[in-house]
Amino acid sequence: MTGGASMTPAPRRRVPILMYHAIAPASETSSRLAVSPEAFAEQIAYLHETGFEALTAAHLAEIMAGRAGRLPDRPVVLTFDDGFEDFHGRALPVLDGHGYAATVFVTTGWVQDAGPHAAGRRPGPMLSWSQIAETAQAGMEVGAHSWQHPQLDQLRGNVLREELYASKAHLEDRLGVPVPGLAYPFGYSNARVRQMARDAGYGYACAVSNTTLNGHADLLALPRLTVRRSTSLRTFRDVVHGRRVPAIFLKDRALTNGYAIARRARATVGGVSRDQ
Ligand SMILES: [Zn+2]
Repeated sequence: MTGGASMTPAPRRRVPILMYHAIAPASETSSRLAVSPEAFAEQIAYLHETGFEALTAAHLAEIMAGRAGRLPDRPVVLTFDDGFEDFHGRALPVLDGHGYAATVFVTTGWVQDAGPHAAGRRPGPMLSWSQIAETAQAGMEVGAHSWQHPQLDQLRGNVLREELYASKAHLEDRLGVPVPGLAYPFGYSNARVRQMARDAGYGYACAVSNTTLNGHADLLALPRLTVRRSTSLRTFRDVVHGRRVPAIFLKDRALTNGYAIARRARATVGGVSRDQ
C-alpha cells in the first residue's frame, strides 16, 4: 500500500522519535501538548546523562536509506511541530547546551511574518523567518509541516499537492537549502498522501503512531511518540527506553490511526482539534 520503494530494513537499534509542540508553562497556554520549560530541560538533561545521542530526523532517514553511516549506540530524535516561537527562546538554548540536534517542522502559513502566505489562525506566538533561519544556522533541521495545517488525507488532489509543494518551496526559498523532511499535520496520512509526498520530493515523513521505530520502517511514515504536559519524567524514561507504552499513548494510537470517516464527520460539525 505504501510503496515498496520506501520500505527499508530495520535499523539495528530502537530509535525513539519524540514529538514536542510548544515549550510553555500552563499559565501561557491551555494546550495539553505544551511541555513546561522545566520539564523539557529535565527530559533533555536525562537523555544526555543517560548517553543518548540526538540526531535530526533527516540524518536518521539517511542512515536508514544506507547513505549515512550507522546509528549511534543510543539514538534519539527530537522533533518539534508547528513552529512555535518558544522553540527559539526556550528549546534551542537547552539543546545547544547539550550539543543536541533536533528537527523543527514548520507550518509555513503560520510563520509570524508569513506575509502573502499567511493562512488560518495561528495556535500561539510563532517563529519568524529570521528565527527559523537562526534555528537552521544553529545546526537544527527545519522540515515542512504543510502550508495551512489541514488533515492531508481529507484533501482533494490539487489542494493536497499545493499543501505539500508550497510549504517545501517556502522553506527552501527562505533557507536556501533542500528540505527533505515532512511531518503530517495531526499525524494523518494515507497511501495517496504518502505517494504525493514522495512525488513532491520529500525523502522522509513523520507520522504519529506512538510506537518506537524498530522492525521494518516506512520512510514516509516514521512513527513518533507524543510528549505532552502530563508526561512525567518516569513515563518519559520508560518510553525512551522502550520499557512500556503507557495507556495514554495507546489511546493516541487509536485516535491517530485511521478513523478518517469519523474525523470527516467531526470536521463537518466544525469541531476538529488544532492541537497537533
Ligand atoms: Zn501540527
